[in-house]
Amino acid sequence: MGIELSILSGIWGVIIGSFLNVVIYRVPQEKSIIRPGSHCTACGHNLRPWELVPVLSFLILRGRCVQCQEKISWRYPLIEVLNGVLYFYAAWMNHNGSFLQLGVNFYFLSTLLALAAIDWDTCRLPDVFTLPLLGVGIGAGFLLPQGPSGWESLATALGVGGVFWLITRLYPEGMGLGDIKLIAGLSAFLGFPEVLIAIFIASFTGSIGGLIMLSFKKRSFREQIPFGPYLVLGGWAVFFWGQIILSFYDSLF
Ligand SMILES: [Zn+2]
Repeated sequence: MGIELSILSGIWGVIIGSFLNVVIYRVPQEKSIIRPGSHCTACGHNLRPWELVPVLSFLILRGRCVQCQEKISWRYPLIEVLNGVLYFYAAWMNHNGSFLQLGVNFYFLSTLLALAAIDWDTCRLPDVFTLPLLGVGIGAGFLLPQGPSGWESLATALGVGGVFWLITRLYPEGMGLGDIKLIAGLSAFLGFPEVLIAIFIASFTGSIGGLIMLSFKKRSFREQIPFGPYLVLGGWAVFFWGQIILSFYDSLF
């Protein structure tokens, strides 16, 4: 798509990113994502409209609550900007896809972002995100021309998801069931063999990330290290650059 639509998509992405922050914070606590309105998590101060502008409010407030001066996490603007960049790039790459396709792509990218953040915080990948991801992935396969066909989506989700489910039965200390459902969702969206590249990237970046976490003592050996954020990294990489990675791989043999 043209640069204007891509920039508009990026701005839309930042706004949706602001909503994602609410979802990421509240869904694991099983709180409503609509009520109450946004407020400071330290003092309960209700945010006024000018304090709710994505990124800008954070900069103007210098990352602190107006009322209690408690620091606001830099992760809020980071997630907003990241979601905006993802939408911009998805629109820019959407050469012959429809607006419906673009909407589905936005859904895919943002659901992955929410899952990565929630898994990072809580070591859980809630079904309310992973199962719809799987459903929309298969539905998009049947309804939209881009990406794998419906039957390929279904077969990849069952096949690859099934194999990794068996692996967790044999080695329960490895991945959790949430990871399997996320892999099934990625399978439906990316198809075969693309999803295997995503899992490979996840394992590779996950081992590096795990080592870094251990060396900074952010997490101990005993603690669970979430795999979801790395699966998301792999999913995004293959979504944007899957064809390039595959043709590079082919050129090696
Ligand atoms: Zn406050």
